[in-house]
Amino acid sequence: MTFLVLLGAPGAGKGTQAPILADRLRLPHVATGDLFRSAVLEGSAVGLEARQYMERGQLVPDSITVKMLLDRLAQPDASVGAILDGFPRNLAQADILASALADRHSQVDVALEIEVPEEELVRRLSGRWICKANGHVYNERSHPPRVPGICDLDDSPLIQRDDDRSETIAARLAAQLAALGDVVDYYRQRGLLRTIDGRRPVTEVTDALLAAARAES
Ligand code: AMP
Repeated sequence: MTFLVLLGAPGAGKGTQAPILADRLRLPHVATGDLFRSAVLEGSAVGLEARQYMERGQLVPDSITVKMLLDRLAQPDASVGAILDGFPRNLAQADILASALADRHSQVDVALEIEVPEEELVRRLSGRWICKANGHVYNERSHPPRVPGICDLDDSPLIQRDDDRSETIAARLAAQLAALGDVVDYYRQRGLLRTIDGRRPVTEVTDALLAAARAES
């Protein structure tokens, strides 16, 4: 079993890198943000509750988030491990993850941090668009689609996430950067943190992440 934790602020590139890593390392990509967005679309009880927080750029309470994550890790495909994207987001979640994995005689093998300065994060988030069908990520400036408003990969329309609207970005970053710093320190203290410079081109960031992951797992 291999459990990788992918850390980074909103806009650092986790959503771009995680599916690539999952494919190359043959591990399921488990993103709590994606799980919440699916729950919102389904209109489930979890979705209705989570939506109120997501729209305000706040973290969803741990009680809801942890249950959803552990249910996902109990699925058969996660018996080999997983790439965790967007979890843990605070120290309580990091502790719960450690004990849930210990119950499975496992542990977090490495925490990969994609580091990007705050001004660059704001710039990236305010230009981010995702495709409606599969969440493929584009950016008006750094990675525009070939045809404006249409996904290159599946032709579905591009939409802006509610929490990427400019008025939500500042609140979302402020709330999340502080908690992210705690989680980064948590893994640094345990000798599990590897930090990768996320300002480089996508393929270089991928190579650096893969090298760090393979060295530890
Ligand atoms: P993301 O796609 O990871 O940016 O997540 C989108 C939103 O889902 C976040 O802004 C939070 O409201 C919620 N969310 C995702 N993961 C977590 C988590 N581990 N703890 C609490 N809320 C989360």
